[in-house]
Amino acid sequence: MEFKTHIRVRNVNVFYGKEQALKNVSVDIPDRRITAIIGPSGCGKTTLLKSFNRLIDTTDGVRVSGEISVDGENILDPKVEVTHIRKKMGLLSQKPYPLPMSIYDNVAYGPRIHGIKDKKRLDEIVERYLRQSSLWEEVRDRLRTPASRLSVGQQQRLCLARGLAVEPEIILGDEPTSALDPSSSQRIEQRFLELKNQYTIVIVTHILRQARRLADYVIFLYLGELIEHGTAEAIFENPKEQMTREYIKGIIS
Ligand code: ADP
Ligand code: MG
Repeated sequence: MEFKTHIRVRNVNVFYGKEQALKNVSVDIPDRRITAIIGPSGCGKTTLLKSFNRLIDTTDGVRVSGEISVDGENILDPKVEVTHIRKKMGLLSQKPYPLPMSIYDNVAYGPRIHGIKDKKRLDEIVERYLRQSSLWEEVRDRLRTPASRLSVGQQQRLCLARGLAVEPEIILGDEPTSALDPSSSQRIEQRFLELKNQYTIVIVTHILRQARRLADYVIFLYLGELIEHGTAEAIFENPKEQMTREYIKGIIS
């Protein structure tokens, strides 16, 4: 697979106090493809994902070294301002966290912060991103009601719409369907497949079938080490490492 690199990771180490959660991880994440980070619980998947938008900084006692370049800028450089990094990346977490406000205001939140005040423009933005998240039809008649009244699956799609409304380049998902029922999960997966032409998508998943359905590129972590990375085909059909083979066959978990 020929690809352009969007996120370049080099020799990244992460320590929580004395415990090392990532050990010298280096990998290139392709532009406008879906990359899945797989591996057993505790292997460092969330830690790697949170390093990409520097959300990791909010953890007490954390120490990060190495280099992560996004569009040629090393975002681990302490001089780099985090707001503009975060603006480039939308994050979906395991559980949806809609803001305590209406459906409309959730989507308009980011654009308003970025200075958009015109009502007609905001209306258009809200509709566009609710459509992109396949939520529009379900909520168009109750945009002014609290987001908290939506089902969990709808809330996760709302969070996707809220993230997209900031016009990110990268969508990060940390097991974004783990709290959802099968039909909502399927909708989110479907959106990812449709959005990957426009965005670089990186998702953490411990569901191998989901990685097979979605991923173009796969990163396999085990106990903080990057064991193998490559195209989905290479990792799933022809893994080089014994450990990857065993993980994929379900021998280790
Ligand atoms: P995964 O997402 O693959 O389950 P994590 O990245 O959450 O793994 O965690 C990797 C390792 O770092 C685990 O051993 C975990 O216990 C540890 N860890 C994660 N977050 C913290 C934290 N805030 N403080 C201390 N240790 C942590
Ligand atoms: Mg995790």
